[in-house]
Amino acid sequence: MILLARQTSELQKILEVIVRRLPRTYNEYFNYNEHLRRIKVGFAGEQRVDAEWQELDLPSPHYILHDFQVINHAGSTHQMDTIFLCPHFLLILEIKNITGILSYDASFAQFIRTTADGTVEAMSDPFQQLERHVAWMKRLIQQERLSLPILHAVVLATKNGILTEDFKGQPIFHVTGLRSRMQKWLELHQPSVKKGEDLFRFANLLLTMHTRVKREINVPLRDIVKGVLCTNCVDGQPLRYHYKKWLCPRCGLVDRDALIRTLEDYRLLVGTKLTNKSFCEFFAIDSPNLAYKLLQQLPLKAEGIKRHRKYWILD
Ligand SMILES: [Zn+2]
Repeated sequence: MILLARQTSELQKILEVIVRRLPRTYNEYFNYNEHLRRIKVGFAGEQRVDAEWQELDLPSPHYILHDFQVINHAGSTHQMDTIFLCPHFLLILEIKNITGILSYDASFAQFIRTTADGTVEAMSDPFQQLERHVAWMKRLIQQERLSLPILHAVVLATKNGILTEDFKGQPIFHVTGLRSRMQKWLELHQPSVKKGEDLFRFANLLLTMHTRVKREINVPLRDIVKGVLCTNCVDGQPLRYHYKKWLCPRCGLVDRDALIRTLEDYRLLVGTKLTNKSFCEFFAIDSPNLAYKLLQQLPLKAEGIKRHRKYWILD
């Protein structure tokens, strides 16, 4: 049973809006685009591993939490790609979607990949990350007086990530190996949680602790293209509001969702609070009358009157 489903992250959504609204000539455009590309690759890898779980015969009961995030007692973040719980054990997975030849030096906590063109790139040590997570989880399990072994592993989501001998003895395997690993682990660890409700209670405790951690990102608000934009045309072609319809003067598109979509862009880049001024700036509206009319069409909570009127985007 999946208790916590994987979702597209807010960071990915923010980067998508930035990339869509930044002029390609902007000097940081490449960096934003590259950041977005990496996030998408990681997400695709996670989905690949999620799909593998669906193929397996799993013990009952079991609980799965994807992309579990929590802030520990010291105020730092744990982000676990997948937590699997069953009466036999608790498993924490770190998912990597990286191609190239991978090498590792445990004594230096050094994880390196060499791509086909010979580029050598250092990456953060996933085993160290996992050990941090395991330590946190161990503490919680003890606190809850539960007896459950904690296992951990790094899963490579692509066969194009080639593991070298350096990884011998390390808990790392390709996604297709998940089935046989699970079988081995289930044979090795007999059920230690006897009561199903104890496991359910613990899985639910994790769920209540889950907090979406906000990732800080610098939004180049001044340089992004403002306005209600056409989804068909490139280069930030603005739509025109004409007889209660948003239409594109270039390609003729009539877009019924234009206003609400632009509001979502606003939420991601600016926040949930609007004023007449911030609305006019972001939506590129010149007429205060039109701004007022459009604001009434949106799902907003309003407070105050006239110039002091403020709006909040509803969830
Ligand atoms: Zn258009």
